[in-house]
Amino acid sequence: MGRYTGPACRLCRREGVKLFLKGDRCYSEKCALERRNYAPGQHGQMRRKPTEYGLHLREKQRLRRYYGLMESQFRHIFQQAARRKGVTGEALLQLLELRLDNVVYRLGFAQSRRQARQLVSHGHFTVNGRRVDVPSYRLRPGDVVGVREGSKDVTLIRDNVAASGGRGVPSWLELAPERLEGRVLVVPGRDQIDAPVHEHLVVEHYSR
Ligand code: SF4
Repeated sequence: MGRYTGPACRLCRREGVKLFLKGDRCYSEKCALERRNYAPGQHGQMRRKPTEYGLHLREKQRLRRYYGLMESQFRHIFQQAARRKGVTGEALLQLLELRLDNVVYRLGFAQSRRQARQLVSHGHFTVNGRRVDVPSYRLRPGDVVGVREGSKDVTLIRDNVAASGGRGVPSWLELAPERLEGRVLVVPGRDQIDAPVHEHLVVEHYSR
């Protein structure tokens, strides 16, 4: 599976919002968006009125990059959301939030979704006691995410949890920091997901 390997901050500057792709740096004054809040590239500071298509596209890109996914993976998740009952935009966000890599990040086990993805794929986590190394693994209410016994990165994970205090664990998850264990309590509602997007524009983008 391909992945974006270019500069992370460039993505935030393109989208004009903090996507929190670099851990601690995102919360410091070193954040590139704080210092250069305009699009990257030679014409980054030019003002252009976006087209309707451009607005929808930007919203889709913003959400896709927030969760660190490539287009094919993202489109696949959108198609799954579209087949579900209810509001497609909310279903899309729920499917994205319930990915194992996202939950590892939300629980504070990793500094960023990128790091979470790497830690998961290196086999450092378990779900309900069984090792799972698939970042896209979809969790359900009641599932317990833990750190694999003997994981050599347990110190890093413990440090991440200690440092992530200010970020806070969302209300649909429960963290037991001393055991390095987290539980999914419910499927999150829209009001429990802080993704910086208008998801109905993403739906319109794919419904053209
Ligand atoms: Fe985005 Fe973080 Fe870079 Fe700031 S430091 S521009 S939030 S990736």
